[in-house]
Amino acid sequence: MDSQQFREFGKAAIDLLADYMDNIRDKDVLPSVEPGYLMKMLPENAPEEPESWKDVLQDFNQAIMPGVTHWHSPRFHAFYPTGQSFESIVGNMLSDGLGVIGFSWISSPACTELEVVSMNWLGKLLGLPEEFLNCSDGPGGGVIQGSASEATQVGLLVAKDKTIRRLLEADPTLSEGDVAARLVAYTSDQCNSSVEKAGLLGNMKMRLLKADSNGRLRGETVKQAFDEDIAQGLIPCYMVANLGTTGICAFDPLYEIGPVCNEANVWLHVDAAYAGAAFICPEYRHLMKGVEYVDSFDFNPHKWLLVNFDCSAMWVKRGYELVNAFNVQRIYLTDTDTNVKVPDYRHWQMPLGRRFRALKLWTVMRLYGAEGLRKYIRNHISLALHFANLVRSDDRFLVEPEPSMGLVCFRLMDGDSTTKLLLDNLTAKKKLYMVAAT
Ligand code: PLP
Repeated sequence: MDSQQFREFGKAAIDLLADYMDNIRDKDVLPSVEPGYLMKMLPENAPEEPESWKDVLQDFNQAIMPGVTHWHSPRFHAFYPTGQSFESIVGNMLSDGLGVIGFSWISSPACTELEVVSMNWLGKLLGLPEEFLNCSDGPGGGVIQGSASEATQVGLLVAKDKTIRRLLEADPTLSEGDVAARLVAYTSDQCNSSVEKAGLLGNMKMRLLKADSNGRLRGETVKQAFDEDIAQGLIPCYMVANLGTTGICAFDPLYEIGPVCNEANVWLHVDAAYAGAAFICPEYRHLMKGVEYVDSFDFNPHKWLLVNFDCSAMWVKRGYELVNAFNVQRIYLTDTDTNVKVPDYRHWQMPLGRRFRALKLWTVMRLYGAEGLRKYIRNHISLALHFANLVRSDDRFLVEPEPSMGLVCFRLMDGDSTTKLLLDNLTAKKKLYMVAAT
């Protein structure tokens, strides 16, 4: 393909997507296809000879589109939202157009530095303590991970490395394997599946502690769990607090959990994947009271801040602890030798390669402005309250618990089996898509 064809193909694709968004409301939110439909439609082998881009777009319309679940339909209410905006799509396109891999500063200086700047902007918008920002005097900073799952995993691996180093330094007769086998991670039984998975992947026992009746994990529960484990010779190492649980969007009290973790030398990570975006509005920041106790904090602009997947914003108080844990040297991977605080981001993440993800985040922040983003969040929350009032006005339904952020949980007064039947019927009609919570 030459640059002229690229212009034509690109413009046709943008027209197609603009039409898609203009008409998305008219589509069923769920597709009417059976498992295997696309595998049957497409050839078994890649073409030997190049085909025309027009044929590709035609197949996109005829074969791909019928199998798409429309996450950006106004009738899509399942899971949590996934961010999208025209601004972000174009930001992403610019990143794809450059096609750089920014694992170290020299591998593309702008890729690293725009990420530093964008993460400072975003951290300030959220009202995070200065210590998390690269622009402060300390060793803190932000990094864009691919997902909240990765951020939780990174936190766990760094906590593990840090705890092992600390204990071996204090007692060189200990073996690394023995310490590693006794480490324990904690979170609430309301955590997202990805948190439990971090324990599996990081080979660390992960205890799901019981949340209270409001879905919040309390400080005294955490303290009790640490004490029980210490009494058994185990070593508390990593704690994931949730700001906005997946089921009911509950907020763990950091001001209770934080002091307990700090006292016990346990790394405290915050998973605010969805609800963290709301902290750009000062009126919701009380929900992160105690954030000063936290070691790492993560939320997903790709969920609720108009940035397309993938863009998970993670801040840490001490960037050098990530470098300690993840630093593997090769002759072809020179580190940046500078007095300026410029991270070599390959040490801050699991993969080596990394995309220029800051471009879409920066584009969105510039083209919406902080006030535009706040308006977007506030509008979602007021729509949720409006919907909850509509549901409440029908006495067959109960809204429970109180709506939190953009999330409304409701059920039929008749009980779980009727509620499930209603959900199944709605799903079968494909007009609305919601999911169950317990
Ligand atoms: N944490 C919470 C609270 C979530 O709700 C989700 C997804 O819904 C995740 C983590 C996983 O996010 P990601 O897909 O970015 O890993």
